[in-house]
Amino acid sequence: MKLYSTNDTNNVVDLKTAVLKSLASDRGLYMPQFIPKLKESFFNTLDTQSFQEIAFQVSAALMENYISANDLMKVCRDTIQFTAPVKHITNNISTLELFHGPSLAFKDFGARYMASLMSHFNKGADKKLTILVATSGDTGGAVAAGFYKVPNVEVIILYPSGRVSPLQEKQLTALGENIEALEIDGSFDDCQSLVKSAFLDDDLNRVYALSSANSINIARLIPQSFYYFEAFKQLPKNKPIVFCVPSGNFGNLTAGLIAKKMGLPVHQFIAATNLNNVVPQYLKSGKFLPMESIATISNAMDVGNPSNFQRMLKLYQDDWNALTQDVVGYFCDDQTTRSTMLKTYTNHRYVLDPHGAIGFKAAEDYLAHHPNTHVCFLETAHPSKFLDVVENTIKSKIKVPQRLARLENEKKVATQLDKNFGNFKSFLLTRK
Ligand SMILES: *Cc1c(COP(=O)(O)O)cnc(C)c1O
Repeated sequence: MKLYSTNDTNNVVDLKTAVLKSLASDRGLYMPQFIPKLKESFFNTLDTQSFQEIAFQVSAALMENYISANDLMKVCRDTIQFTAPVKHITNNISTLELFHGPSLAFKDFGARYMASLMSHFNKGADKKLTILVATSGDTGGAVAAGFYKVPNVEVIILYPSGRVSPLQEKQLTALGENIEALEIDGSFDDCQSLVKSAFLDDDLNRVYALSSANSINIARLIPQSFYYFEAFKQLPKNKPIVFCVPSGNFGNLTAGLIAKKMGLPVHQFIAATNLNNVVPQYLKSGKFLPMESIATISNAMDVGNPSNFQRMLKLYQDDWNALTQDVVGYFCDDQTTRSTMLKTYTNHRYVLDPHGAIGFKAAEDYLAHHPNTHVCFLETAHPSKFLDVVENTIKSKIKVPQRLARLENEKKVATQLDKNFGNFKSFLLTRK
């Protein structure tokens, strides 16, 4: 698998480089040069294949010749450790639940696959890989869980003191082993700038093999295509199937488009957003106008300039007409998100999180114009991750899964540092 940069199609690297570097030297995002169609026999036998087998078949088709079948099987087994069940909510709306992993959000799939691939590619190197990551909350939890006890790799997480929720903090600080947490007296931007400076520092690069767990890493994108096949396997086949994707940075939706390109018979995709609606606006007008992000209750989707937009465009050769054949956009505000949560709970006894609620609402809006389809929206996080908003909205208590609830009693272990780069650097050099 060769990959090109979205900024320059002649800038081509192999899979290992793309995975270990994340971002191209020209700051573009890596995309596979060739996306193969899966064989008819794969689709004919989809019903009988396990989620792990599906993951392997899709990976193998994409990465042929760059990693052995045995190693790839191991990566897929490491990743697919939890289910992605489809639940039916109405006659023509289903949901694909992607929150059954350790951090209760779909980002677990990408984080685990990336961790396993990075570990594979760093095997035999003289230094273990050190992942530096700044987090404002959610990503850090998935990355910490994804890399936990993975050989050849350690993770150093920087988070802003007092600005992540208590449970999120425990997700970062209670694991131990190869996961180290630094509590920075500063903002998320301060954490990010410490990480950026470290990557550019010669002394640190002599001592460490530094890498990032950036959300735009191709190894986080690829596994997100697996569950579209897994969902399709479980869905009724008597009507055209439409996937509805609550989106922020548009990695999830891009992965769905890749699955379609590999032959999955999806009728259309719905790009569902909150008021950060630059992509739905683009689909309507043909103009891409990035904006400052707006804070909403579906905060994992508060992205004003979605990075994967360039990847979506490349899949359609920068052709707006072609893209709008496959993708339609809908968006809604917080009030509508809340009323959707309440209505869905009252009418169907299904508890949505604020991100999934935007998916459900977009599915309803779409069905009003396309009645003869079946819409499956992605439920991207477990509602208990947004406990206050959810319980206040549906006026009921909900059950917190054991893997989240137990964190309350775990011990926080973190090193406190200020936002001075010199101090951060000497900390890194002396811990070695
Ligand atoms: C990250 C995230 C999203 C947005 O996904 P993208 O791939 O960035 O579009 C949606 N919902 C939840 C809960 C998330 O954590």
